[in-house]
Amino acid sequence: MTDSHLIAYFSEILPQGQILTAAADLEFYGKDVCKQFSAHPSLVLTPSTPQQVADILKICSLHKIAVVPSGGRTGYSAGATATQGEVILSLTKMTRVLEVNAIDQTITVEAGVTTETVRQKAAEHGLYYGVDFTSKGSSHIGGNIATNAGGIRVIRYGNTRDWVLGLVVALPNGELLRCNGKLFKNQTGYDFKSLFIGSEGTLGVIVEATLKLCRPPRESRLCLCGAKDPSVALEVLTSLRKQFTVNVFEYFERSGLELVTAHSSLVDPFKEAHPCYLLIEIEAPHAEERQRFEELLSSFLETGVISDAVLSESSKHSQDLMSLRELIGEMANKHHVPHKNDISVPVPEIPAFLHDLRELFTKKYPQYPSIIFGHVGDGNLHVNVLKPESMEAGAFFKQCETIDQDLFTIVAAAQGSISAEHGVGLLKKPLLHLSRTPEEIDLMRAVKQVFDPAGILNPGKIF
Ligand SMILES: Cc1cc2nc3c(=O)[nH]c(=O)nc-3n(C[C@H](O)[C@H](O)[C@H](O)COP(=O)(O)OP(=O)(O)OC[C@H]3O[C@@H](n4cnc5c(N)ncnc54)[C@H](O)[C@@H]3O)c2cc1C
Repeated sequence: MTDSHLIAYFSEILPQGQILTAAADLEFYGKDVCKQFSAHPSLVLTPSTPQQVADILKICSLHKIAVVPSGGRTGYSAGATATQGEVILSLTKMTRVLEVNAIDQTITVEAGVTTETVRQKAAEHGLYYGVDFTSKGSSHIGGNIATNAGGIRVIRYGNTRDWVLGLVVALPNGELLRCNGKLFKNQTGYDFKSLFIGSEGTLGVIVEATLKLCRPPRESRLCLCGAKDPSVALEVLTSLRKQFTVNVFEYFERSGLELVTAHSSLVDPFKEAHPCYLLIEIEAPHAEERQRFEELLSSFLETGVISDAVLSESSKHSQDLMSLRELIGEMANKHHVPHKNDISVPVPEIPAFLHDLRELFTKKYPQYPSIIFGHVGDGNLHVNVLKPESMEAGAFFKQCETIDQDLFTIVAAAQGSISAEHGVGLLKKPLLHLSRTPEEIDLMRAVKQVFDPAGILNPGKIF
């Protein structure tokens, strides 16, 4: 189908300014942050109402036009990348905050509203939205729901799934499906909204969401610990959880700290270098809890569980310590060509898993710099392998396929997942069978067939 045919179809729905064809727009909207795939969309549509989205999908089904739903394009798995002439359906113009309701503590927004805006709007009403991660300023709520985004506060507040109350979803048949409205209780058969959470744009396009909010967290205390060995992580976590509400429990290696301090104004807060670090935030509204926290840290130091600890002294200091962890992924993207893995294992497996992982990279792949960091309290680690400067990108990504085979053998042995929070998209598609059985994949195909019989929505993604 020629571009002029496509433009003619969509001109019936959208004004000219909302159909983008300039090369710069195709490149900009055509891909997410995953560097393994290039953007080749045919055009970009920027609808501004749910009805326009539904009408676009109806036309696409009728004429078998492949569509890639696109949010903030911060995804790491090429889920929002158009590689074969698909139409990009961008939700960037759907940014209305429809309601913040202090009575039932909910917010209703269009899908193109950013995660950060939801957090800010909630705060303006004395409320809190618990999903929090570095890309929150750009990522959309629609994209968060489509990837069931996690982040640094999952240990306390859960994944995006835990916050979604109701959805409005545009279906390929041109209908707007309303799932659950604003009900906290509704036991009337299948829960369709749950199907769309994590579906990566393959079943429908989320146009509106009602999210739960809650009371803001009480005063907290943040600490960065240096340690000799990652195996102490669980001992520290278990002791903390017996006494405190843990808001954040993150892990990174020396290489992550060095990457961030080399490319930012942040400094290493310790006198000595440590092989690894634990970033801990607990809720501590009273002096008595803060005292007990300090005592626990002292006992960890005395027994050699940790080697050093820095307690934050101000909110700016907390932010700096937090940024040492939070900026690792972004800096790896900005200053290197990374191959990113985002895996999870059951939390009790973490020490053995981290040990095996480090052995793999040190002994078998020493020529490839690797950075291991992540949400260790949720059993979720980001494993970034960096392209050596002398190596050509294509050869590097090819080699990463071999590295992944070894990595995923360790993940499988620990009964883990190939993708904890970034999704499958195009990047992890060849590995799906390592985390899902053939029966499960067949069921996914069957569900896809029900919602999208013409196969127009994000074809080739996930499976
Ligand atoms: C620096 C950085 C840090 C990050 N940290 C985290 C983290 O801690 N935790 C985490 O989970 N992720 C993290 N991510 C990944 C990313 O931000 C999340 O996956 C996010 O949820 C993607 O949202 P998005 O709007 O950018 O979606 P996009 O990248 O635009 O799309 C992601 C997927 O959702 C689909 N989609 C988008 N919008 C819709 C819609 N309205 N309806 C249906 N399908 C849709 C797309 O087709 C695609 O498959 C990080 C990314 C970066 C760059």
